[in-house]
Amino acid sequence: MTDAQTTFEALGLSKDLLAALEKKGFTNPTPIQEKSIPILLNTDHDLIGQAQTGTGKTAAFGLPILEQLDPSQFKVQALIISPTRELSLQIKTELDWLKGRKNASVSAIYGGESFEKQFRELKRGVDIVVGTPGRLLDLTKSKKLDLSELKVLVLDEADEMLQKGFIEDIEEILSHANSERRTVLFSATMPKQILNLAKTYMTDYEHVKVEKKMSDTSLTKQYY
Ligand code: ADP
Ligand code: MG
Repeated sequence: MTDAQTTFEALGLSKDLLAALEKKGFTNPTPIQEKSIPILLNTDHDLIGQAQTGTGKTAAFGLPILEQLDPSQFKVQALIISPTRELSLQIKTELDWLKGRKNASVSAIYGGESFEKQFRELKRGVDIVVGTPGRLLDLTKSKKLDLSELKVLVLDEADEMLQKGFIEDIEEILSHANSERRTVLFSATMPKQILNLAKTYMTDYEHVKVEKKMSDTSLTKQYY
């Protein structure tokens, strides 16, 4: 083969996930997926992933989470914090098809829906929880969401969560989570407050970045 493009297989994903990707028609990883997936699969490092909207950040953290899920563990293994109900549902939908035949249950938790219903869902046992900060914090504080056995905690669209004033809720959720977990942060932009959050709550992290556009880079170069 002369194709220079990386494949999902070369990134180290196993056959159930590769089959799901093929079925969906994803042929090659996007740049942020190509940079993030090997770090998440092959190292223990925390990760900051920076790339514009629409670059495939969901699968960049979703595929490694699904790959590393232990189907026999009856505790929440991954928590994904997201700024809105719509984005939480989108992430759940994407994970539900990315998982293919893999046995993984994903639950979306957000405000405005019955607390009882979400509590019952959690009680039945879920592997991956995705939701908005306020409701996640309520369920955590009332001990209905157990964050003591997480493998990974993802802060998705971190800059949007900052804009919406969710940072305090997020810090409180982080304080309830087990310390052995890995922390992953994805954002389109990296304001100072987000970097400070990363420096406080993340250890030994890698920072991968996909530049916006070629024209922006050359524009920067012209100034030198
Ligand atoms: P972001 O979170 O960076 O804004 P998303 O993860 O929502 O982006 O992805 C944007 C769209 O691109 C989604 O419809 C998703 O299914 C699609 N997508 C993601 N990865 C790939 C890929 N490798 N090949 C083709 N489409 C992809
Ligand atoms: Mg996204």
